Amino acid sequence: MAIRFAEAHYLRLQDVAFYNERPFLRFMCRRHSLAVASLPITTTPSPRESASSPQEQKTGGVKYLLGRSEEQLMQVALKYSQKQYRGRQLHDLLYKAKCKDIKDFSQLPQEFRESLIADNWKVGRSEIHHTVVSTDGTLKALLKLEDSRIIETVGIPVEEARGINRLTVCVSSQVGCPLRCSFCATGKGGYGRNLKAHEIVDQVLTIEKLFQHRVSNVVFMGMGEPMLNLKAVLEAHRSLNEDVGIGQRMMTISTVGVPNTIAKLSEHKLQSTLAISLHAPNQRIREKIIPSAKSYPLEALLADCKEYFIKTNRRVSFEYTLLAGINDEEDHAMELADVLHKWKLGHHVNLIPYNPISDSEFRRPYKASMLNFEKILNSRGVTASIRQTRGVDANAACGQLRNEFQKIPIS
Ligand code: SF4
Repeated sequence: MAIRFAEAHYLRLQDVAFYNERPFLRFMCRRHSLAVASLPITTTPSPRESASSPQEQKTGGVKYLLGRSEEQLMQVALKYSQKQYRGRQLHDLLYKAKCKDIKDFSQLPQEFRESLIADNWKVGRSEIHHTVVSTDGTLKALLKLEDSRIIETVGIPVEEARGINRLTVCVSSQVGCPLRCSFCATGKGGYGRNLKAHEIVDQVLTIEKLFQHRVSNVVFMGMGEPMLNLKAVLEAHRSLNEDVGIGQRMMTISTVGVPNTIAKLSEHKLQSTLAISLHAPNQRIREKIIPSAKSYPLEALLADCKEYFIKTNRRVSFEYTLLAGINDEEDHAMELADVLHKWKLGHHVNLIPYNPISDSEFRRPYKASMLNFEKILNSRGVTASIRQTRGVDANAACGQLRNEFQKIPIS
């Protein structure tokens, strides 16, 4: 199935002066549109689950260490008749030393290492296939997975006078994406499969290594629709929080909207931000640019957002890609303000100027239209800000770079 995904990293326009004085500034990954389907979603795995149960069933007997908690790694150690503290060592080797191969676990007894290898355990790190650094410091990495599929991950540094003070990773959750948002670049590459939890965690460790700097923020806004892979996303979220040490409030999960999933997510009471890729003030325009919106009407989506806010006490933010002549006019801004007020969801809207891709029917909006759109929202009590794309010269639209290297569409 043909797909698209996208993303982008943005700067507030009003911050440009500040930005010009500093190499890096505010950013933000964006995402796009929606989906269908109700899918089975399980809860975050218990830390007491058995040492070799979950992933291996789906990976042809290969078991991955990455993504497992300290307690789970202790169980692995006990299973091999090792002392419990060997599990803690494993944890350090994975998440602090960032070892990529069991052979590098020199602190562990040789027979333990050999047993792990013999039993088909692997660390679960991916190979860096290619990297591109844009003039603003944004780094896009192509990672080659074990089955040779390629995904993108993006590191976005925010630098101040004394160096990087924030480093955000925009992670992919799927190889491609099964949704067909009409403005999304990567869809042209097709959809492969869901990523496993360790493949998501790996993206963050890879960016830490490439920047030689701790990652402070994670946004699930890269390739794919996170809500279509919620089990692995939640497993990765847990690991990034507890094992890698990234605060829940420093993470954002973005979705175009998949029926029945926002309520499921709210059960986990995460402290992370839920970002909805809205992109339209009404159902008619939304369906036009997000085909899967047909099965998840705008009103139903906003009702689910309202429920999410009530259950979690966490505000929902909205992403709105401005497409010239499609959704960027004054009437659209007024309609958007009205609909958010109706649902009392006027918390924050990130306005994202469309980043044109080849063969696209859409155009980037004029700056005057963007500023006017922002002004109308703010004047109507909806906080809005315009974000600039980061990494434009590094094929910024999600999937563009991967398509350069993976010419044959994913089947
Ligand atoms: S949901 Fe999928 S198709 Fe739609 S914009 Fe996001 S990545 Fe692209």
